[in-house]
Amino acid sequence: MKIQISGDKISFSAAHILSNHDKCSRLHGHNYRLRVEAEGQLNVKKMVVDFGEFKTKVRNIVKQFDHRILVPSQNKEFNIISDEREVKILTTENKYYRFPKDDVLILPIEATTAELLAKYIHNLIKETYPKLKITVSISETPTSIASFSE
Ligand SMILES: [Zn+2]
Repeated sequence: MKIQISGDKISFSAAHILSNHDKCSRLHGHNYRLRVEAEGQLNVKKMVVDFGEFKTKVRNIVKQFDHRILVPSQNKEFNIISDEREVKILTTENKYYRFPKDDVLILPIEATTAELLAKYIHNLIKETYPKLKITVSISETPTSIASFSE
């Protein structure tokens, strides 16, 4: 059996930069929308997982992304220097960004593409629900959606 959650409370707005991309290498943002599916056996309450509990867990994971600048720490084109006050990024394209630390979320991924964001958020949800097959679909725009499932 499979359940699915979506909606405003598991969505977030964030800014990012994609290195070596003609248009997206400029700082820009998206209103990301998520759809999360959980598939598995029914429990004693005849549910895959309680909708309310599942929404709360996913919302708590997703809210850390909201109104942040997403920075991929594994990106070889970004030299990231961070201290207690600021995050500075020097790119191989010779761009220099300087942000207040609180505005930034540094993620242990190679790029903040929708694909890798879906996989990263999937892995965070999977830590809580290791026995369920979790699918995370994330849209940057209504017509651009990436999914990761495992
Ligand atoms: Zn983008």
